Amino acid sequence: MCGTLYLCATPIGNLGDVSARALELFRTADLIAAEDTRRTVQLLNHFGISKPLTSYHEHNKREKGAYITGLLEEGKNVCLVSDAGTPAISDPGEDLVRLCIEKNLPVTSVPGPVAAVNALILSGLSTRRFSFEGFLSVNKRHRREHLEQVKNDPHTLIFYEAPHKLKYTLHDMCAAFGGGRRIALARELTKLHEEVLRMTLAEAEAYYEETAPRGEYVLVIEGAPDCAAPTDAWWAELPVPAHVEHYIEKGLSPKEAVKEAAKDRGLPKRDVYNAYHTTGDDAH
Ligand code: SAM
Repeated sequence: MCGTLYLCATPIGNLGDVSARALELFRTADLIAAEDTRRTVQLLNHFGISKPLTSYHEHNKREKGAYITGLLEEGKNVCLVSDAGTPAISDPGEDLVRLCIEKNLPVTSVPGPVAAVNALILSGLSTRRFSFEGFLSVNKRHRREHLEQVKNDPHTLIFYEAPHKLKYTLHDMCAAFGGGRRIALARELTKLHEEVLRMTLAEAEAYYEETAPRGEYVLVIEGAPDCAAPTDAWWAELPVPAHVEHYIEKGLSPKEAVKEAAKDRGLPKRDVYNAYHTTGDDAH
């Protein structure tokens, strides 16, 4: 029988955030594959765990992928851990997962911290819908193309950033999104000096002209204004059929109600008509 690959989340700062299940697997698995073995040894030492480790990172993922899947085929259980947080989020873990799926090898997850999600929930920005954008490229043209692609996205945007690139990134973001957009800059999450700065992009650019960035950052940026669906509209939480019903209850004919709801939402009447009648058909 094949072994299982366990994708084990580890703390992003505070060691108390490791799960009991992850620790149990570190004790019982045959091997731990780590992005940075020195860092993982520190975590294991803290909990008095001694276990064989192998490195698995961007520069050896091809050979190590073959080695790890070979072990799984022999029935060994392997834990995969990243530098910090959840493996396969902005790290080469995604390649190993794909390889296991191709080879029909069992993969499961042991959930825990993700820097992006923690920054998002602390940002004060909309968490209803968001887009995780990972790291911007170091290539100037690719970074600008990436920012151009997402500048009209109405969802909250989340980026990872290293301190030495922060100043340039804020400059490029101001140019692409405009300085008025709100941003939350989260650093040292779950650590003693955790900090979340909330300001506009222009203020952030000016602030980091004067202040040296310290630690790894997550940048959470307000989405583009969505003219078609203002979130503070009275009908924003209503599904389309309930929006139409509202006008019918106020005395409009179904045709007029569809017209009014379509006008509110900036949608074609046909779309609202179809949404209203499809639900009606399902209900009867
Ligand atoms: N797999 C990780 C996760 O689940 O969040 C992310 C790995 S990615 C290579 C590393 C990036 O995560 C950093 O550059 C930074 O943007 C973000 N990050 C990790 N730990 C953080 C922390 N304690 N505070 C703020 N950002 C952090």
